[in-house]
Amino acid sequence: MSPTLTYKAAYFRSPESVVLKDTTPGALPSTDAMLRVDACGICGTDINAIMRGAAEDTPVGHEVAGRVVAADGSVTHRHAVLESSSACGRCISCRNGQPELCRDVKTFFARPFFGIAEYMPAPEISVLDYEGMSPEVATLSEPLAVAIDLASTAEITPQSVVLVAGLGPIGLMAVRLAKLAGAAYIYASTYRGRDKRNALAQEFGADELIYEDETPLADRKLDPAPDVILSTVPPTAIGACVGPAARGAVIVYIGVGHGDTDHIHLPANAFHFKKLQLRSSFASPALRTPLALDLLRTRRVDGEKLITHRYPLADAGEAIRVACRDKANAIKVVVVNN
Ligand SMILES: [Zn+2]
Ligand SMILES: [Zn+2]
Repeated sequence: MSPTLTYKAAYFRSPESVVLKDTTPGALPSTDAMLRVDACGICGTDINAIMRGAAEDTPVGHEVAGRVVAADGSVTHRHAVLESSSACGRCISCRNGQPELCRDVKTFFARPFFGIAEYMPAPEISVLDYEGMSPEVATLSEPLAVAIDLASTAEITPQSVVLVAGLGPIGLMAVRLAKLAGAAYIYASTYRGRDKRNALAQEFGADELIYEDETPLADRKLDPAPDVILSTVPPTAIGACVGPAARGAVIVYIGVGHGDTDHIHLPANAFHFKKLQLRSSFASPALRTPLALDLLRTRRVDGEKLITHRYPLADAGEAIRVACRDKANAIKVVVVNN
């Protein structure tokens, strides 16, 4: 790859402050690949970072699909996504059959090059070929791999009664995965007015929507009571799941706290006497990307239904604004390079 390659990439300080800057990565490690980016999804993590406000121009975008660039700089026909992090395959944990505990994870997150851009360099080990779907749908393999880890950490069976808390894209995917796993009954907690998400949750398999603006989740009595709770809400909201939980329920959560949201409060006695379990799901390394691609290719998870907005790179600011603010209409917003 030529060290003189220069391309446009989006940098944010806030949704209102976006610049497209010329970026020259220069000489890259020999273990790197270069992608010509075809599409990059905007994720809740990106939105939170931008809404908190960055002190300096910050590149974002980790849901990436593109084509591999050859050594001579030409764009090949090899369509690929990026694992957001990859097990090294060599450390003691990897060699001991526990790649999920890899001690030397390879990830582009440690570097200043991200996917809302024309090109993106990334560790070669993270490049995974795909076929049979559009680049926009392929970008969903990243959040879907997260949702797969969330759902599989809960061990859903055909007798499970599942509650999914939070209906962002990962929550919606979790509803679908619970349905595919054969859950007996699926609740989704949401808010009135989020019409697109609420309708899609039902289409993906939710039997009942429960509205937090009617009754706070902590005060809900549900019949049947959920014995699997998949939480995609901020950590500070997890304690509310104890109220409706069945005896013996497993609560699994994703979501990272920042500053004063970096804690979990649980009603300790209810948690104890109900014999509950709390498990965290952290899909790094992203070990379920091949399964995610297969679910998307076969439409067992219909990615097109999640994608509500597409914007060209030049309109990356508008894409971020819509993703941040339009909870009624936006589910997944994707930036696309033609
Ligand atoms: Zn993400
Ligand atoms: Zn390893």
